[in-house]
Amino acid sequence: MQTVKLGNSSLESSRIAYGCWRSAGTSDPSEVTPENREAGLRAIIAAYEAGYTLFDNAEIYCRGVCEEILGRALREVAGMRERVIVATKCGIRVPGDPTPEAPKRYDFSGEYIVRACEGSLRRLGIETIDLYMLHRPDYLADPHEIAGAFLQLHDAGKVRFFGVSNFRPSLVSALQAACPLPLIVNQVEISLAKLDCFTDGTLDQCLERHITPLAWSPLGGGFLASGAILRLPAEKQRHARAVITTLDEMAEKRGVSRAVLAVAWLLKHPGRMVPIIGSNQPERIRDLARAADLELSREEWYQLLNAARGEPLP
Ligand code: NAP
Repeated sequence: MQTVKLGNSSLESSRIAYGCWRSAGTSDPSEVTPENREAGLRAIIAAYEAGYTLFDNAEIYCRGVCEEILGRALREVAGMRERVIVATKCGIRVPGDPTPEAPKRYDFSGEYIVRACEGSLRRLGIETIDLYMLHRPDYLADPHEIAGAFLQLHDAGKVRFFGVSNFRPSLVSALQAACPLPLIVNQVEISLAKLDCFTDGTLDQCLERHITPLAWSPLGGGFLASGAILRLPAEKQRHARAVITTLDEMAEKRGVSRAVLAVAWLLKHPGRMVPIIGSNQPERIRDLARAADLELSREEWYQLLNAARGEPLP
């Protein structure tokens, strides 16, 4: 697969990344079966064999089970650890931890960032995380405290590069102003079902600061591929139908699947964004890799944008 540099760093990622959020088949660790683990492992190995080299994870994904599954792949597949970028995230705390009355919350305290990173390293079974991200903005985030934790992890050889996720541009600027290490990615939701980042300043900032946008849920969590729009809220169904129809017409002309086209649409942006796909099915994972070679014209791109906006451009 084609590759792309992450920010101004030395990390070179496949043009499309693989996300491990669904690797355990459930978000509840008590429900995970050995079959779930095997299916997750098979999907990760299929992604590696299809040329994906960035594997996205998070401590919160099935409370660590998804990191364990990726860790097993890294151990069992010869050469995989050296060839891939291991990316994971911290900062979401589950209710009941550490005391029963503790609520769900975000935690960017220096102490927690360091402890969470050590937990991820253990579950992944590796010495160093290539890309470590803060998952969702902590309302109590202190940029100087975060910077201190990042430096500590970097200096200890536990993390190579840092990034953020779901950050508004002003918080990226505040953190970068306090942190001597570069933030190389902002992982945000972008797809034909979620256009906000094109107009809220997120992508403009990525261009300005050479931050690579990692686009999560590039298929809108599945409906752009499956066409199952009836599961969406009523007000979203009309737009969704228009997008699916336009994708289908174009996909037929191009001889690709609707899902491939939806991912290729993201690749046209000059910010060189990296979509993170999340299918757990090897056949679909292999099919989606074809998006990396599909170049849309400006006219095709805008045709899809117009369908997704649901109203004419001014
Ligand atoms: P997605 O690629 O938009 O959706 C994948 C879902 O679509 C899967 O459940 C898949 O089911 C389904 N699907 C249905 N038909 C499909 C088809 N023809 N081809 C492919 N998929 C089809 O992405 P996502 O899983 O929502 O998210 C991807 C990654 O983004 C996650 O793994 C995670 O790494 C990251 N993420 C990050 C955040 C954040 O806050 N930073 C939030 C969410 C996700 P099957 O498995 O049955 O194929």
